[in-house]
Amino acid sequence: MPELPEVEVTRRGLLPHVVGRRIEAVTVRHRGLRWPVEPDLETRLAQRVVRRIERRGKYLLLECVSEDPAEPAGWLLVHLGMTGTLRVLPQAPPPGAHDHLDMVLAAGAEGVGDAAGAGGPLVLRFRDPRRFGAVLWTTLTEEELPSHPLLRTLGIEPFDAAFDGAWLHRHTRGRSAAIKTVLLAGGIVVGVGNIYASESLFRARIRPTTPAGRLSRERCDRLAQAVRETLAQAIERGGSTLRDFVGSDGASGYFQLDCFVYDRAGQPCRICATPVRQIVQGQRSTFYCPNCQH
Ligand code: ZN
Repeated sequence: MPELPEVEVTRRGLLPHVVGRRIEAVTVRHRGLRWPVEPDLETRLAQRVVRRIERRGKYLLLECVSEDPAEPAGWLLVHLGMTGTLRVLPQAPPPGAHDHLDMVLAAGAEGVGDAAGAGGPLVLRFRDPRRFGAVLWTTLTEEELPSHPLLRTLGIEPFDAAFDGAWLHRHTRGRSAAIKTVLLAGGIVVGVGNIYASESLFRARIRPTTPAGRLSRERCDRLAQAVRETLAQAIERGGSTLRDFVGSDGASGYFQLDCFVYDRAGQPCRICATPVRQIVQGQRSTFYCPNCQH
């Protein structure tokens, strides 16, 4: 499942190819995604220019502006769900069964498009076999966007300067749930999926079952730092795949860390050689070292 690092790498991969381009045509082949794709998305998007691509949690936010200044700008919210990919294709092969949406992008203006000669027309293709992904249109302004129903419950971004040990400490007071479960819920900080929760807690040397409210300020400092480091490393790892982003088979942007504990049950801890333990928390597997993590 694409997690925050994969979504961020997708965003970075799209930026040089998509930003500044005009949308010539949109084809929706399947509207039954997690939420229905609105019936007139094709006409709403046509002839707009993608001005920028932002990310909030695991949502990609494409700002699409009209050439008509009377027409308000809008945002295309894209979520990759469990199995979604967004690919840039210079020559789009005939769509497969799971290619639900294509956006034909006009040839890039001067300065748009990359050195690989992808300045010509492109297709931005959304594929999602399990259809838990979403493609939604909204005309909320940039100021209003954080209040969108799908965005307003999200926790702070892990790379936001305001996310630190003090933030984590303040927002975990009175919480008796295990810190792993609290991290995974995303209401305090977004982007800490199942792999990254186990890995961050290992780096911070914190037992995943520790009640969140019991973490000292010092341990919260370590954990905030570990969350940022773990995610940054995953993004960096994924960034090395960006070269192949155009026309790839969709595998780009999916990558894994060399994990310390995740999916290593029974194998020796990379630090102390104690066998890594696996438990279940909130129906999700957790991995930790019983010696390194207290
Ligand atoms: Zn260990």
